[in-house]
Amino acid sequence: MLVTLTEAMAPLPDRRQALAAFNVFGYEDAAAIIAAAEELDVPVALMANKLALSHMPVAVIGALLCEMARRARVPVVVHLDHATDFVTVMQAVTAGFTSVMFDGSQLPLAQNIAQTREVCRAAHACGVSVEAEVGSVGYADGTAAHAERTTPEIAAAFEAETAPDALAISVGTVHRMTEGVARIDFALMDKVVATLRTPAVIHGASGVSDEDLHRLVVHGARKINIGTALRVAFGRVLRAEMEAHPGEFDRLKFYGPCMRAVTAMAREKILAMNAG
Ligand SMILES: [Zn+2]
Repeated sequence: MLVTLTEAMAPLPDRRQALAAFNVFGYEDAAAIIAAAEELDVPVALMANKLALSHMPVAVIGALLCEMARRARVPVVVHLDHATDFVTVMQAVTAGFTSVMFDGSQLPLAQNIAQTREVCRAAHACGVSVEAEVGSVGYADGTAAHAERTTPEIAAAFEAETAPDALAISVGTVHRMTEGVARIDFALMDKVVATLRTPAVIHGASGVSDEDLHRLVVHGARKINIGTALRVAFGRVLRAEMEAHPGEFDRLKFYGPCMRAVTAMAREKILAMNAG
């Protein structure tokens, strides 16, 4: 069933289970992730980012993911990841996304606050959840962005001025890491989470070991984003299958093993996020 971010997070027991949120780029990975969520009977978020939207028009991927969510036996959020402008947010809302992230992390704080407020007002009027970001989670692949840890003071100031439904914080993770070697500052995370009423979101969790995923949940993460780990799982199997069958040209023959690899990785990450 198709739900908002707020609806998906609400029933999850605090500090025992976080909402697993995965980046998707089309039908194959979305179906593989839903299969893992149905098997484990947990809600899940499917996220489309800027790269996905550069490949497929927002209305097309929105319609695809929303229909897949409606057919799923578990609650599924269709979430826009890292939008940096109001127009993209509203295109996603129009396309049926039930949740949007407005990322003002590269803006001066006052502008991040002002634009987040505007997005919240518009999205909430349409019944759509909003995730914002305070501090800034950096990138491991050279994507130009300044990275900055979230402080409790700035998090509290941001929250007092905005009303997002979830808030991404920067406490040591980095986007696009291919190994689980991120060093998380759990002492800082505890201070930030203690100042917030808004559920905390951790980005860049492909760089987090499964053991630390578990710790993130215990320390109060309510939504945890994973993209790279699933892209690696899909891509590695696709390469191996193509090398193993050089005469085969039908891509549908390759997709089955790739999708099973994505389901297995999603299952592993969802289980690591269950600290119950
Ligand atoms: Zn992110």
